[in-house]
Amino acid sequence: MSNEKILIVEDEKKIADIVKSYLEREGFQVTLAGTGEAALQQIRSHFELVILDLMLPDIDGEDVCKAIRETSDVPIIMLTAKSSEDERVRGLGIGADDYVIKPFSPRELVARVKAHLRRTRKDEKKVLSFNQGLLTINTTCAEVTSAGKVVPLTTTEFRILLFLAERPQMVFSRLRIVNAVQGYDFEGYDRVIDAHIKNIRHKIEENPQKPAFLKTVYGAGYKFIGVPD
Ligand code: CA
Repeated sequence: MSNEKILIVEDEKKIADIVKSYLEREGFQVTLAGTGEAALQQIRSHFELVILDLMLPDIDGEDVCKAIRETSDVPIIMLTAKSSEDERVRGLGIGADDYVIKPFSPRELVARVKAHLRRTRKDEKKVLSFNQGLLTINTTCAEVTSAGKVVPLTTTEFRILLFLAERPQMVFSRLRIVNAVQGYDFEGYDRVIDAHIKNIRHKIEENPQKPAFLKTVYGAGYKFIGVPD
């Protein structure tokens, strides 16, 4: 179960309690705020996601949203009773990530919460890691480590490795690989790809003759066989 923290900003106690119990059942840690003021107090601590009612007794939900956005990129799902398109668009324009129209099904809200959290987790995952950290690929700074040591790859080698590593167990032909990393093919590209693969293996494989990452699929091409951590 997750320990992700969710803040619910909702003055209607009944709705807040129902949503809270649904989320807690999924393993989330839920904090309730019944007013905009309370929400702005709470937001100083860390939350993975905020569910924010548009109609609050003190501060307008939109203003709460704007205030949160001044300091935080936390995903915000707006609860709104207003269903006109304008309101929805406005809700998203002020920095909310999603909206749910009241009355809503708690189940659907929970599904949306999970979808947003999945997306956030994915964005954070800028370092791909395989075989218990034996191979890591940092997609932000294009740095690759093998057994803890940085290995210098050329740009093309890096692109080939990343293309395959992002799609483990999928077999790609040499043509497909050259198209993915160069955007075009050229005469003799298959030998060029083979040469690149050979170079990458020498840099990342413990035993290039028995690769743990870049496997040759005879008659077909290559596939990445590392196990994602
Ligand atoms: Ca309300």
